Amino acid sequence: MTSQEDIRQIDFLSLKKAGYRGAVFDKDNCLTLPHRDVLVPELQDAWKSCRDTFGEGNVLIVSNSAGTYLDAGGIQSESVTHHLGVPVLFHKSFKPSYSCITAIRTYFSSIPDPIYDHELVVVGDRVFTDVVLANRMRMQSGSRRGLARGVDEKERFSTSEIGPQQLMGPSGPLAIWTTGVWEKESMLMRCLERSLVKAVERWSTPSSGELLDVNRFLKEEPTPADPPRKASVLELLISRLRRG
Ligand SMILES: [Mg+2]
Repeated sequence: MTSQEDIRQIDFLSLKKAGYRGAVFDKDNCLTLPHRDVLVPELQDAWKSCRDTFGEGNVLIVSNSAGTYLDAGGIQSESVTHHLGVPVLFHKSFKPSYSCITAIRTYFSSIPDPIYDHELVVVGDRVFTDVVLANRMRMQSGSRRGLARGVDEKERFSTSEIGPQQLMGPSGPLAIWTTGVWEKESMLMRCLERSLVKAVERWSTPSSGELLDVNRFLKEEPTPADPPRKASVLELLISRLRRG
């Protein structure tokens, strides 16, 4: 997993070059404000670059609002598709359920040039839904690997530029966690998610699939100048004592 402020830091071209051919995007607080249908204006260029890079039909929105039973008559999905220019997945149960994963796989296997789990990136702002979804796909893909893969894919890999090293890479989607929040929502849960991720990062060693250097998929951002540092309480006390 890699984490970004928002999708502007993602280098979609590098992802494509590395063999990723499709993307699953969360909607609320990742692309739009919560429960709104239009793209956050600041993301216009990045979103265009994503769609141009992966191509029509290869970018899918999987939301826990639009496309669920909460979206009566699919009105919101239609509006989101209209504004964002990509399809919204209809699914019966919320992310990260296994039935939602099945619906994602059904979609990507039904397009003209099917996309497999390990060729997907999953982008979202919530650990307990978006990142867990990607991890569940990885775990399932890992166990299904070599069994469920059809002859088609073997043939494709034998003739494509992607060599065996790529096949030895991650067995499921790459999760990209966007940590910026466009409109404050569920802040306590976000805080818990952040601490959990920090704890996991501190105590776990990456598995073989995660040794991939994800920094090559990020755009370099100019580092802002350090804000003036506030003196700590201890420093203030010391200076007072000295003066006194
Ligand atoms: Mg979200």
